[in-house]
Amino acid sequence: MSDVDLSALPSVDRLLHSTEAAELIAEYGRPLTLEAMRQTLEEQRARLKAREVTLPTPDNLLRRVEEILCGWVKPTLLPVVNATGVILHTNLGRAPLSEAALNAIQGVSQGYSSLEYDLDSGQRGSRYLHAEDLLKKITGAEAALVVNNNAAALMLALAALARGKKVLIGRTQLVEIGGGFRIPEVMKQSGARLAEVGATNRVHLEDYATAIEEGDIRLVMRAHRSNFRIIGFHSEPDLAELTQLAHRHDLPVLDDLGSGTLLATERFGLQHEMMVQESLAAGADLVCFSGDKLLGGPQAGILIGRADLIAKIRKHPMARAVRADKLALAALAATLLHYLKDEAEREIPIWQMISTDARLLHERARHWAATLNAGEVVEAESAVGGGSLPGDTLPTWALALESRDPEKLLEALRHQRPPIVGRIHEGRVLLDPRTVLPQQDGALLQGVQNALDQSGHSI
Ligand SMILES: *Cc1c(COP(=O)(O)O)cnc(C)c1O
Repeated sequence: MSDVDLSALPSVDRLLHSTEAAELIAEYGRPLTLEAMRQTLEEQRARLKAREVTLPTPDNLLRRVEEILCGWVKPTLLPVVNATGVILHTNLGRAPLSEAALNAIQGVSQGYSSLEYDLDSGQRGSRYLHAEDLLKKITGAEAALVVNNNAAALMLALAALARGKKVLIGRTQLVEIGGGFRIPEVMKQSGARLAEVGATNRVHLEDYATAIEEGDIRLVMRAHRSNFRIIGFHSEPDLAELTQLAHRHDLPVLDDLGSGTLLATERFGLQHEMMVQESLAAGADLVCFSGDKLLGGPQAGILIGRADLIAKIRKHPMARAVRADKLALAALAATLLHYLKDEAEREIPIWQMISTDARLLHERARHWAATLNAGEVVEAESAVGGGSLPGDTLPTWALALESRDPEKLLEALRHQRPPIVGRIHEGRVLLDPRTVLPQQDGALLQGVQNALDQSGHSI
């Protein structure tokens, strides 16, 4: 066999001057198209040398160029259909926003906004004001501060109030929330020193009292066990007992609620999750929680409580590094307004999902099964997720799809547009209507139909 003639490959210049190339340049821009052409030619040269291919036509080359370009510009952050039944799914972006919150984001981001501009005086204003008044009004707290997320809120509060000093916490609360976020690590990073008391299953009020008497404590902390439960031989003082003790020694109490609900969860057949208002009523001097868990808003970390403590935290240099952006502030203010106007259950998607009657879910699942002419409607359980109400579920009805290879069917569902995320339960693929937004029903049915066709399912 003779040597491959590499010079028979067209030059970049020749590819660049074809009509098809003009279309690619219009779509992707010249520098990127050029880079894709160089890569394509290099690839082909190597493959020719290795005798893996015969000489490609310019058409073939340009098709490969387009393929490379498509891969480079393909978005990775995509909307998906959440059919897992996990309402606050951290990997799927936690809380979907209300219509009002979405409008607020659009309103302040399409043009300029009064983010830090006082429209009455025409002078510089404060970004902190937008959500602060609403938070104060809803919770009754003296002051509020919004930062990037709850991890940042906690880190900032500890750095501002207890750097170099001891923070007292029960061993029952040294939790890892997920993604490597551990209370002891956060304390270390903030410069505060961890003073743990009690045992893993039991902490007594005397344990706290003894540690306080030993001295050097600056803050008493409590962290919500967001993602696990302790059962069996377990006890710890309640928040009111803890704050009374701390206050006798002039120590503030920081309560990391994690999820931070403003509505009573037991109204929806769930366990009672400590509410933000209750934590303040129990005497917590500072309460921090997430914007995108049970509040149902954008990613944010919310700190509320004593005005003097909030003022100190706000002045700390780290506050600037973790401040909330205007999109989050706009969405948060709109979400908080739903609570103020007593319409949270109606307007905020996660509360709509939590409060949906199982009969309605049954109807939707039946409609799915009838339209697809596939699957079976089965009783199942939805979860709140997102570090709230661990182990607690809501009864639901789901569409169960039989498949020889359920993993493969799940994969086919993930490759639809929009991607559909389901779960496997007892060997079947389960799709839970509770977390599928009503306006996504059409896309879901189309996607499931495609996936079933592609995976050659057997019903
Ligand atoms: C979720 C959670 C956090 C972290 O909140 P993010 O908003 O995700 O940063 C911190 N503490 C507790 C107890 C949590 O549940």
